[in-house]
Amino acid sequence: MSRLYLVGTPIGNLGDLSPRAVEVLGSVDFIAAEDTRVTLKLLNHFGIKKPLVSYYAHNLRERGQVIVARILAGERCAIVTDAGMPCISDPGEDLVRLCAEAGVPVEAVPGPSAAVTALAVSGLPTSRFAFEGFLSVKRNSRTAHLAQVKDDPRTLIFYEAPHKLLATLNDLLEAFGNRRISLARELTKLHEEVRRTTLSEAVEWYAEHPPRGEFVLVVEGAQVRLDEPPTLEEAVELVQALAAGGMSLSDAAKEAARQTGYKKGELYKHSLNVPVPEQEG
Ligand code: SAM
Repeated sequence: MSRLYLVGTPIGNLGDLSPRAVEVLGSVDFIAAEDTRVTLKLLNHFGIKKPLVSYYAHNLRERGQVIVARILAGERCAIVTDAGMPCISDPGEDLVRLCAEAGVPVEAVPGPSAAVTALAVSGLPTSRFAFEGFLSVKRNSRTAHLAQVKDDPRTLIFYEAPHKLLATLNDLLEAFGNRRISLARELTKLHEEVRRTTLSEAVEWYAEHPPRGEFVLVVEGAQVRLDEPPTLEEAVELVQALAAGGMSLSDAAKEAARQTGYKKGELYKHSLNVPVPEQEG
C-alpha cells in the first residue's frame, strides 16, 4: 500500500542501518534524500538501486507537494537524511505534516539519533530532558533561546558544529553558570569520545584543543531554587527523586547534599528508610 516511510540511517557506523531499513529502502518506488550524493553512497554500500529525488531545506515546499502527489497516485516513498532520524533537526517534519493533511499513511523505520544517543551516554539525568537543537547564529534569538531554558530543570540537549562550539560553550556558561556538561563527539565513529566535565572546564579545554568532528552537548538542567533552607524531609525527597531518575542512591545523596547543604551521609542514611518511588512507563 502506498505510504511514506521515515527511515533512520546511521550517524556514523554503517552497521547501525537496520535490516528492516535495508528491506524498506530496497522495496520502495523512490527515495527522497536530503543530499542524494550522501544517500547514493549508503545505497551503494548495501547494493540498493533506487530512483532518488532531492528533498532539503531549500526545495521542500514545492518538492513536498510533488512527493505527496506521487504517493497519492500509488507510489511508496522513503525519506532519509544524511545521518540519523529524519525530522530531528533535519528535513521531514514538513513532509509528515503534508502527508497527515492528505491522509497519507506515514510509517517510521526508526534508527539512531545523535541526541538520544548522546543523552544515554552522558551520565546526566535522563528521565526528563529537552531537545533544543541548534542555537541560532543570530545574537538576539540565541540570547532569547538561552533565557527561555535557563530555569528548565530538565537535562538540555544541543547540537553544534565544531567551528561554533567554543562560542556556544561560552554563551552557555554565561547564561547558565557553571553547570555539568557531557560533550559527545563523533558518536559511533572511530574517534568517538564522551567528555563529562563542567562548562568552565570545557571552555578552557576547547580553547586549547580546537574541536573537530560532530558534537552533541548535553547540559545539566537548572537546580530547583529553594528560597528557604530545605527541611531534612525535602532534602530526602530530592534524594529519592534523583534516585528515581536513574542515579545510584549514593550519587543521589551526594548531589542532594550539594544542592541542600545537608551531609551526604545523613541524607543517605535517611533515604535508606524510604522506598524509592517506582518510575512511570
Ligand atoms: N537527524 C539527525 C539525528 O537524528 O541525529 C541530526 C541531524 S543534524 C543536521 C546534525 C547534528 O547532529 C550535528 O551537527 C551534530 O550536532 C549531531 N550529530 C550527528 N551525528 C553525530 C555523531 N556521530 N556524533 C555526534 N554528534 C552527531
